[in-house]
Formats: sequence, structure tokens, C-alpha cells
Amino acid sequence: MKFNKVLNSIKTYEAGKPIELVVREYGIAPKDVVKLASNENPIGTNPAIAKVIRSHADIAHLYPDDSMFELKAALAKKYNVEDTNIIIGAGSDQVLEFISRAVLDENASVLMSGVTFAMYEIYAKQMGAKVYKTMSHEHKFEEFMEAYNMYRPKVVYICTPNNPTGDATSKEDVIALIEAMGSDTVIVVDGAYMEYAAAKDEKYRITPNDLLGYDNVIYLGTFSKAHGLGGMRVGYGIAQAPLIKELYKMRPPFNITTLSLRVAIEATKDDSFVQQSVALHQEQIKRYEAFADENSIGYIDSYTNFITYLFDENLNSSHIADALLKRGVIIRDLASYGMNAIRITIGTEEQNSTFFRHFSEIIA
Ligand SMILES: *Cc1c(COP(=O)(O)O)cnc(C)c1O
Repeated sequence: MKFNKVLNSIKTYEAGKPIELVVREYGIAPKDVVKLASNENPIGTNPAIAKVIRSHADIAHLYPDDSMFELKAALAKKYNVEDTNIIIGAGSDQVLEFISRAVLDENASVLMSGVTFAMYEIYAKQMGAKVYKTMSHEHKFEEFMEAYNMYRPKVVYICTPNNPTGDATSKEDVIALIEAMGSDTVIVVDGAYMEYAAAKDEKYRITPNDLLGYDNVIYLGTFSKAHGLGGMRVGYGIAQAPLIKELYKMRPPFNITTLSLRVAIEATKDDSFVQQSVALHQEQIKRYEAFADENSIGYIDSYTNFITYLFDENLNSSHIADALLKRGVIIRDLASYGMNAIRITIGTEEQNSTFFRHFSEIIA
């Protein structure tokens, strides 16, 4: 069989390990597995959402409203934009795919920071495009502009806050990058963790409206993280109407499920649930900072719902990830990103205590 030659350059995305795997391989009971690997909301979903799911048990045979009128109206109201500025995806991942397919080909290139969301690279390579990364994992103006002027990328990704590192780029610095780049480059501002950054420091708060004055910029948001709806797969892109109109040509019909659509509409009303999630997170992340300080472990100041611990040569991230996994604690090893580091999603008080207990024993 002969596959598209672009596949030779693509490494399959490695998702956080599921609870089922730990149960199967290590015989640990599901209730004893602590999953702090995929940046899910540790308190689950808003109880109002569970109610919506239960009350829609009999709609599985119906396709969703393909116009997604109600969801777009709710998002338009929330962000003070028009519904023509919005496209909905099966996760913001799918919107990334639409952008990639709409803009890139084998003559194009893309630019991103040195360590960032793995899917940017995968979608670009699917189109045969070249991928350039800056030296730093932070979004540094000089590094971006030097690479921009050298390669003239068709798409530039700004992930703020950045996954898997946790650092963020201020609104002022994002705008400076946008202003410095030409309008023939599509600039993607991925705000998957924006709720956490905005709550930590106003300087980092970016809303879709801040960017709507630029015809080449698209803001991405998701219900997967602070809203606790990763399993429902709903995200969105917000940009000027002509850009959205082009992306629509890449969208398959009924691209989110009937249930996901109902749930996402409900989630646009759950500000207090998001606030509660962020408040728990802010309290619990302090324990991770204190633990790192007490044990002389480096970490990146986090603007997200996870923290990245940086190890020196005395500790090996892959060994630690394996040892934790055998004890039923799933975290993310960042060795595949070229970092001797682990990424830990901040859990509930109890989950975090379990992590500290096992981690202390492993590093002792
Ligand atoms: C989680 C995440 C997304 C998208 O998640 P979906 O579940 O597909 O909405 C996008 N960007 C970053 C940086 C993420 O961490």
C-alpha cells in the first residue's frame, strides 16, 4: 500500500493515558486511579449539565441543528460579537484542522513556539506544510519576528497560556506580534486555558473582541478545560466574518453531536461553575509550588490548570512518570517534547495529596 508521503513526517498524537489502561495493566481499581494527565476539570462538570444530559436521553436518533443557531447566539452574546464571527468545532482541535486545511499546502510553512500544543504541527504536516519553531517555549517577540521575516509563514500559532509549559503571553505582547506581522498570515490565538490566566492576572486576559479588528486573526476557545466538558468535544473559533466563511467550506455537516450541542448551550450559562473551578485550582496549585520549593524542584510559573515540574540531571522524567503510573497516578511526561519535565494537571485536594505521597516516595 502507498500512503500520502506527508504521513512519513507525522508522529501520531500521544494522548494522556486513560484510566482504563492503568486498570488493565496494573490491576489497580478504577477508584484508586488518579488521572492528572489531560488537563480535565477535577471537579467534573456543572451539575446543571448532568441534568441536561439526563433529560436528553431520547434524542440520539436526531441530527443536531446544523446551523447551531442557539449555541452561536449564546456565544455571540457572551463575547459581544455577531454569530457570523463564530464557527463551532468538535473541540477547538477541529477548528485548528479547518484553519490548516483552508490555508496550507505543500509550499506553505507555519510558525510556533519551541514547545507548544502538538496538534499545530500534526495538522500542518498533514497538509505537507513546513513547520518552524522558535528556540524558546515562551512566545518571544524577537524570535518570532526573526523567523517570521525569514520564512514568511502562512499560519502563526500563539498559544496563551501555553500547553504543555503553562507560561502565558500578555495581551499587549500578543497585539504587538499581530501588529508586526503582515495581514497575509493567519494568526491563531489559542485561549484554551484563558479562564485560568485571566483570573490570575488581568494583563493576560484576551477576549475574542480584542482581536476582532484584525482580519487575519482567529481566537480559539473550548469547553474542554475550565467548563469541564472534554468528553463532549465542543470548541469554537471567533474571527471576522470573511475568514469564518472560508473555514465553513472545510466543515463537515453535523460536526458536533446533538447532545454536545445541548450541553454546550447550557455551559455558556455556567460562569459561577467556572469561577468555582478556578478558585479551587488557585488554592491547590499553591501546594504544588510549595512542594517544589521545599524539594528544590524547578517549575514554570503557571497560568493554566496544570503545572510543569522541571528536573535536573538527578531525576529522569520518564522514570518518574513510569513509577507514578505503576502506582495508579497518571501524569504527562514531557520527554517527547525534549524536556526533562513532567506536566501535572492540578486535581482535587485529595488527588493532589495522593500525588504528593507517591511522588515524595519515588524521589526519596
Ligand atoms: C485542550 C487544548 C485544545 C483543544 O481542546 P479540545 O478539547 O479539542 O477543544 C486546544 N489547544 C490547547 C492548547 C489545548 O490544551
